[in-house]
Amino acid sequence: MIIFKRAADLGLYISRQKQKGSRVGFAPTMGALHAGHRSLVEASAAENEITVSSIFVNPTQFNDPNDFKKYPVTLEKDIDLLESAGCSLLFLPPVEEIYPDGITAGQHYDLGFIETVLEGPTRPGHFQGVCRVVHRLLDIVQPDWLYLGQKDYQQCMVIRKMTELTGLDQTIQLRICPTLREPNGLAMSSRNMRLSPQEREKAAVIYRTLLYIRQQLRAGSLTGLKATAAAMLTGAGLRPDYVEIAAAHTLELLDEWDGAAKTTALIAAFMGEVRLIDNLELN
Ligand code: AMP
Repeated sequence: MIIFKRAADLGLYISRQKQKGSRVGFAPTMGALHAGHRSLVEASAAENEITVSSIFVNPTQFNDPNDFKKYPVTLEKDIDLLESAGCSLLFLPPVEEIYPDGITAGQHYDLGFIETVLEGPTRPGHFQGVCRVVHRLLDIVQPDWLYLGQKDYQQCMVIRKMTELTGLDQTIQLRICPTLREPNGLAMSSRNMRLSPQEREKAAVIYRTLLYIRQQLRAGSLTGLKATAAAMLTGAGLRPDYVEIAAAHTLELLDEWDGAAKTTALIAAFMGEVRLIDNLELN
């Protein structure tokens, strides 16, 4: 695995490989890697001659500066994980390589409705920051395939929209990979490192609640089901931020289900100070 710190060096290397006919897969990350990230890299390595990953804790997507400061950094372990997963090139940029004009300048992405629901209202500016960093990374790497985790369901939809707005969808295809979970069902996340073993056990209620919603989903009103689900989280010692059932393709939040439309349940909840998100396709 070759490590690059400069955008221009990485871009040049990749364009030479592409000229030789190599397909390029890309899995961007913020580090503190776990088996979920590994699965994205492995999927790319199975499908492309060159797999690129990046580790960059993106300051513009944190609306809470404390969250940014506390973001775990485990670089040596990450490098070992990426190498053993089949990553060919690792991009490890300093902030000025991603934001040469500073972190406050930048374009606005017209994401429309999907930015106004779920994570949107509680994390103002978050998805704009996600778009800025992913747009910049895609311009540098110019992959054929972009690997994203379904764990961040709304983020996948936001990035899809950004690629449409910027025309990148003409050259880059998205691969959305399944959520990897701990044996107790808790979705793997870099934030789980901030949980005690007892909190990790408690937080598994999020997945149990998603399964409960899937099992209990019936046509008609969803209000009671959402309230019961929120009570399951509270009962286990979590503080739900939202428990929603949304149209799978538009993220329109549903209070009624017609018995046919494809739906996804999405939860955000605090375990202590740590905010966790998860989702499950229901039908
Ligand atoms: P992050 O480092 O949290 O920004 O995540 C980098 C990529 O890994 C994103 O596409 C995430 O959706 C994906 N990812 C994070 N957690 C998981 C997981 N448990 N299973 C699969 N993919 C994941």
